[in-house]
Amino acid sequence: MASHLTQHTRTTTTFTTISKHKPLSTTPKSHMTIGVLAFQGSFNEHIAALRRIGVKGVEIRKPEQLENVAALIIPGGESTTMAKLAEFHNMFPPLREFVKTGKPVWGTCAGLIFLANKAFGQKAGGQELVGGLDCTVHRNFFGSQIQSFEAEVPVPLLADQEGGPGSFRCVFIRAPAILEVGPEVEVLAEVPVPSNSVFNTNLAAYNQEANLAPIDKVVVAVKQGNLLGTAFHPELTADSRWHSYFVKMVNDLEATSGSIVKADMNALQEPKIELPIYLP
Ligand code: GLN
Repeated sequence: MASHLTQHTRTTTTFTTISKHKPLSTTPKSHMTIGVLAFQGSFNEHIAALRRIGVKGVEIRKPEQLENVAALIIPGGESTTMAKLAEFHNMFPPLREFVKTGKPVWGTCAGLIFLANKAFGQKAGGQELVGGLDCTVHRNFFGSQIQSFEAEVPVPLLADQEGGPGSFRCVFIRAPAILEVGPEVEVLAEVPVPSNSVFNTNLAAYNQEANLAPIDKVVVAVKQGNLLGTAFHPELTADSRWHSYFVKMVNDLEATSGSIVKADMNALQEPKIELPIYLP
């Protein structure tokens, strides 16, 4: 674990960790239940995305609800607001415990910020993080809400595992970027930051503060053991490959631990409506 910014070495080898990737083996199982933290943000969209691949998603707002799920998704939204709500409901200790159990946890956008060990660009006073993912994220790296964008991002490892095109249509909504990763973190996707881009101002400022050599790309998807992080919003697109990839992480864990995490059928809630999804 990095304890200080300057102790991270972010060299080009950081970005070649792609080659260390171990393919996931199994196919999704319909019995499993995945929790989605439901204080704020796109939790309904994640539950709908899971349903599209035949997996039950349930809303999580209380510590005891974590006991009945095989894995957890922390959605995108607004991380400061989400952190305040999580704190109010005493969810930080059980969320940290959940991460430690080794069950898969996926943070998207604000959820990625939650999972990071370190966040840069937080509001004054900072915000509590769940942590576990050995990386430093930059909040709002790509600018304000109106600078939100979509990009076709190469995802070689996802395509190897899930098939389909070699790129993924990524929706970045006031998105964070991952600027440093620890040695155990696999990089699954990255995007270039052109020198004439407004984003480069953020990168240059961070490089200077963290005393790092300049780079011209940032990481937007990572995996570290049971943790998955994406800076964009896969739940808003029709391409289910990230959800399917996450479900396979759960299957692999069950296969290796020999235990099937049973769904609590009483806890299941069918979302009332089919939510619209973005079609490019
Ligand atoms: N920038 C937001 C935050 O800091 C995250 C945006 C998102 O989740 N779409 O919380």
